[in-house]
Amino acid sequence: MKVIDHIKEANGNTLFSFEILPPLKGQNIQSIFDNIDPLMEFNPPFIDVTYHREEYVYKELKNGLLEKKVVRKRPGTVGICAAIQNKYDVDAIPHILCGGFSKEDTENFLIDLGFLGIDNVMALRGDAVKSEIYFSAEKEGHRYANELVGQISHMNQGVYLDEELQNSTPTDFCIGVAGYPEKHLEAPSMESDIHFLKKKIKEGATYVVTQMFFDNKKYFQFVSACREAGITVPIIPGLKPIATKKQLNLIPHRFSVGLPDELVMSVIKAKDNSAVRTIGIEWCIQQSRELIAAGVPILHYYSMGKSDNIKAIAQSVF
Ligand code: FAD
Repeated sequence: MKVIDHIKEANGNTLFSFEILPPLKGQNIQSIFDNIDPLMEFNPPFIDVTYHREEYVYKELKNGLLEKKVVRKRPGTVGICAAIQNKYDVDAIPHILCGGFSKEDTENFLIDLGFLGIDNVMALRGDAVKSEIYFSAEKEGHRYANELVGQISHMNQGVYLDEELQNSTPTDFCIGVAGYPEKHLEAPSMESDIHFLKKKIKEGATYVVTQMFFDNKKYFQFVSACREAGITVPIIPGLKPIATKKQLNLIPHRFSVGLPDELVMSVIKAKDNSAVRTIGIEWCIQQSRELIAAGVPILHYYSMGKSDNIKAIAQSVF
């Protein structure tokens, strides 16, 4: 079932959903199930599975030269989605990227998803590979997420890359895209970022999931600005509880989001990471309650491979 239909069916009640990462290469899928199991009692209508593109690593050879190797540390997005749908009978949403994909790769990826009975995709550009500063598209790939959304929408109309294909079956994907309450790192202004978000909707996206934020005001201002710009689709807030002191530096740097002083100072004063975890859960519960009171359609949690803190939050909130 499509995300937008889940929202319609909920009739104004806020739903609970979450995102997981595929395990590191070589790990068992059981580690994924162990994280999902404790969260199933909160009836998620869907579970997102992130996509991780290749990275370049340099291996030193015996002669001292460096060999560039391509590795994918977390493969398995599609397989995990299929396994989730089979085991839990809940919709799994694979993330799909521009980065590392040619248009042909994208088309074949989407054909696989269609055959697996997957109805939703989250369409993203992806970041630059770790060894590069700027994102660069594949030679025959997409430069921005709006182009990827456009290709998926074409397939939804039965238009494939090979124009000579006869009687091709239209796919039927509900397309989600990313939004940034504190603007995307590369965007010169919030206005331009919202302008390009609108482009993704125009190309066929029907809902937005936001980057994590720790101050609800940022989300409310973002939603107002989107509505003023004529974006009418649901904007689902993404939340992540802080769990370690290290994240105080890591989160702003990695995700380009701010942390409120009150939260930062509480974490700094916490005696250890167990105390930080409690602070993070409490903060996220307060955020969740305020967002529910404001009538958000879904609260989407970034689990990042750990479900115990998300469970503690969901128990208090749902
Ligand atoms: P875009 O929408 O293409 O925007 C990228 C930048 O370009 C923005 O600054 C935008 O303003 C600008 N822009 C957009 N269109 C145009 C245009 N036509 N012309 C000029 N400028 C333009 N990353 C992963 O690798 N795997 C994941 O699974 C993953 N999941 C995510 C889930 C969510 C909910 C979010 C919020 C992010 C996720 N990311 C993931 C990270 C994401 O890939 C990065 O934030 C990436 O840098 C931008 O992706 P985007 O789809 O927002 O890009």
